[in-house]
Amino acid sequence: MFTDKQSFVDAFKERFIALNGKSIEDGTEQEVYQTLATMVREQAMPKWIHTRDRQEEKHSKQVIYFSLEFLLGRFLYNNLLSLDVLELVRDGLQDLGYDFTDITELEPEPGLGNGGLGRLAACFLDSLAALSLPGHGNGIRYRYGLFKQKIVDGYQVELPDNWLRDGNMWETRRQDKAVEINFGGWIEMKQIGDRLRVVHHPDEVVLAVPYDMPIIGYQNDVVNTLRLWNAESPLDDEAYLEKTKGTYKDLLKHKQSIATISEFLYPDDTTYEGKVLRLKQQYFFVSAGIQSMLASYLKRNKSLKQLGDHYAIHINDTHPVVAIPELMRILMDEHGYGWDEAWRITKSVMSFTNHTLLAEALEKWPVEMYQRLLPRVYQIIEEINRRFCRDVLVNYPHLESHMGEIAIVSNEQINMANLAVVGSHSTNGVAQIHTDILKQREMRYLYEMFPLRFNNKTNGITHRRWLLKSNPRLSDAITEAIGPSWVEHPNDLEKLMDVSKDRSFQERVMDVKQQNKLDLAAYIQEETGEKVDPHSIFDVQVKRLHAYKRQLLNALHIHALYLKIQADPTFTMVPRTFIFGAKAAPGYYYAKEIIRYINALATLINKDKRASQFIKVIFLENYRVSMAERIFPGSDLSEQISTASYEASGTGNMKFMMNGALTIGTLDGANIEIRDAVGDDHIFIFGLSPQEVMNYKKFGGYHAAEMYHAHQEIKDVVDGLVNGTFDKVGEYQFQSIFDSLLVYNDDFLVLKDFVSYMRAQRRVDEVFSDQARWAESSIVNTAKSGIFSSDRTITEYANAVWNIKPTSVK
Ligand SMILES: *Cc1c(COP(=O)(O)O)cnc(C)c1O
Repeated sequence: MFTDKQSFVDAFKERFIALNGKSIEDGTEQEVYQTLATMVREQAMPKWIHTRDRQEEKHSKQVIYFSLEFLLGRFLYNNLLSLDVLELVRDGLQDLGYDFTDITELEPEPGLGNGGLGRLAACFLDSLAALSLPGHGNGIRYRYGLFKQKIVDGYQVELPDNWLRDGNMWETRRQDKAVEINFGGWIEMKQIGDRLRVVHHPDEVVLAVPYDMPIIGYQNDVVNTLRLWNAESPLDDEAYLEKTKGTYKDLLKHKQSIATISEFLYPDDTTYEGKVLRLKQQYFFVSAGIQSMLASYLKRNKSLKQLGDHYAIHINDTHPVVAIPELMRILMDEHGYGWDEAWRITKSVMSFTNHTLLAEALEKWPVEMYQRLLPRVYQIIEEINRRFCRDVLVNYPHLESHMGEIAIVSNEQINMANLAVVGSHSTNGVAQIHTDILKQREMRYLYEMFPLRFNNKTNGITHRRWLLKSNPRLSDAITEAIGPSWVEHPNDLEKLMDVSKDRSFQERVMDVKQQNKLDLAAYIQEETGEKVDPHSIFDVQVKRLHAYKRQLLNALHIHALYLKIQADPTFTMVPRTFIFGAKAAPGYYYAKEIIRYINALATLINKDKRASQFIKVIFLENYRVSMAERIFPGSDLSEQISTASYEASGTGNMKFMMNGALTIGTLDGANIEIRDAVGDDHIFIFGLSPQEVMNYKKFGGYHAAEMYHAHQEIKDVVDGLVNGTFDKVGEYQFQSIFDSLLVYNDDFLVLKDFVSYMRAQRRVDEVFSDQARWAESSIVNTAKSGIFSSDRTITEYANAVWNIKPTSVK
């Protein structure tokens, strides 16, 4: 335990020797990091135990957030902040001759998620703990997180992310809480008296071993748990050889095959692949999570009838939907409940979030695969479906003709989203427009049947990581102006409205931005070797690479500016630095071509003496949470330019806004709510509305070629993709991009929005030229960002979906 600098320094020296067998003078930074992390962990341990005790003692209802992804980012800095020992540790390390920032950057980053969905799960854990809510995470301890991205000659190259190589200082293995997971085999029905007993004879048994990570609440003594499961063999080596009479080689093969289940995160946030393994992963962590939840519930309760009063399971997207038939199975086969009672309990426990409307991401599993891998679970799904279809025919006969669309099993496939809605008490979308479209389009018939189950929970971000931690300069300026209450109550940021027109506060905020931009410029130079003008507009698009997010629209705008500069010797503009960060799914050829195009533009423009006076293009490789934390504080302009109606919410948009960047964006996802919050004067909106896009998609009527022929500017850039423009920097051609626009008629309406986008960009230049006006907008954006704190989102879930209450542990 340490409470001041000196006690920390003394304890640190002692711990260092105990752990490393040498004195600190001979230590490496790696050893310093590990010693520090060990001490922080120890500091949190009593609080961790205390939180568990208090939550049990008070019979607090708990939520378990089931998610295949948690994009956590580093812990050390946040944990120090939460434990309120940041300053003394920073100063103490300095006394010991170490730079605090260097040490924190040695922490390997748990990148156990792809993008927004996984990062949301991490922000939710942070808010649950900060709000003293009993809420925990359940996921997989992937041996390898999301791939590391390198750019080689403009191409994306993927490398494995071996994040566990030097150990994970925050995890605790809990061998005693391991559970078994059964796959394959056959089902035996035994008549015992008047009861039918179901016995599953699996052909593969996997041991799920939990690794727990503390989730430390912000200065409130709460420590919740993220439980990540590792797949292992249930037998020790000798027992395996004994039992199977196999060879040593067989043993290695067996162990390898089991370990595969928790080996990799699937590097694709919209579709699924490696199907059988992916299904195994889903069932593996879901079954393990439910078993461990029931074990802890049954320690204090006999009957499972009231399970829903004590536990909620939240299903993050369709990946964990198998939780519904799995809980049914356990209630019926292992605890003897009848169907109706089991079904009532299951629905009372489960709630579900839909994250996307993209057809390719709405999971459907082949019946045959489920039958083979999860025979008993499949029987239950079939029975859920049979009863559901009967209900439709009896009570909603007019929906019979839509049965294929709403049934849980149809066309030899299991529709996981339908199963989720039918088997839970709550389904939510992640921004108002997204929920509305869900109700009107994708799920209109289920909405008709269960209108009260549908609700909206607009996403949020934790302001502790994304403002307090990552932007200390702005945090200080805010606190100086309005006091520190915003840290606990982010809506208090609204008080900044009183000073949004105050010249001296505007100057203060612009000065902070300038310093942050200098930091970002230094980082860019370190990463890419490129020098950028810190007085230029930092125009940033960072997010996964996907056609619907339209990095292409941004790139075409840059390309058009380049052509103008070439064509017009008198051309002038407000200088811009275009910054990109984006990983493409390894099998997504088109997305990788767009990365190559952006890098080709960078090479062409940054080398050009005249063009590079006005514009520069930076592609930062390996976009991830720690990089994001460095980018948002130094950004002027936030690119949120998805085809309207395609981006469910977005959360990157909220991080930029909170850090005082202005948004250029379409009316899509949470951009609409950002616009409503800040007002039209403080955001640059352009392009088709969601309704217009949906009409084109439904009725046709868009012809990309017409745009191409009607606008010389469009024709010039599109031709530039294939006419040898890039020959001076290598023989780059972008035929597939050209074809996507003109041969395949531009699915994402890039050319349709191009002119409107160019115009909005010129408005950006105008406003930026008036620094007082820009400063006011920047302050308004931060002031109005409180509602996008995930504390607001989690409070809504806690009250309206989970029915959980804060449990103080102080
Ligand atoms: C916030 C975040 C995302 C999500 O960004 P969107 O712009 O909402 O798609 C993805 N990756 C990382 C690392 C993030 O921090």
